[in-house]
Amino acid sequence: MNRRNFIATTAALFGIGAQARAAEGSFEVTRSRAEWKAMLTAQEFSVMREEGTERAFTSPLNNEKRAGTFLCKGCALPLYSSEHKYDSGTGWPSFWQAVSPDAIGTKTDRKLFLARTECHCARCGSHLGHIFDDGPQPTGKRHCINGVSLTFAPA
Ligand SMILES: [Zn+2]
Repeated sequence: MNRRNFIATTAALFGIGAQARAAEGSFEVTRSRAEWKAMLTAQEFSVMREEGTERAFTSPLNNEKRAGTFLCKGCALPLYSSEHKYDSGTGWPSFWQAVSPDAIGTKTDRKLFLARTECHCARCGSHLGHIFDDGPQPTGKRHCINGVSLTFAPA
């Protein structure tokens, strides 16, 4: 490895490290890994804390059509409203906007070849899903959310 490659690699590693620390440490609600593991099922932990993805069409919330609010399973912050939910046909609960812009945070996810917009709870950092640009009007956005990250509170 020549010097230029070494510097680029080091910078890349440092950048990734800094982003991971920010995701871990800068939220109003913080819990240790052990605390999260104790309060979540293995699947919830995998999705919410390790950015995993539930299998499509497995969440009961995918077919939830009642009026109500979808709360973060990690900290109970209201994240999505039934008013903004729609059937995207993807097998994951889908919304065209969050209940408020402040409810969720986003970052660029480069785990796959194509960069995607990851979204998470703004209060506890739990991973929710991804935001795509093929949603319905008025926003044109599709918030593709793992049902295991949410709890539903009927109105
Ligand atoms: Zn939360």
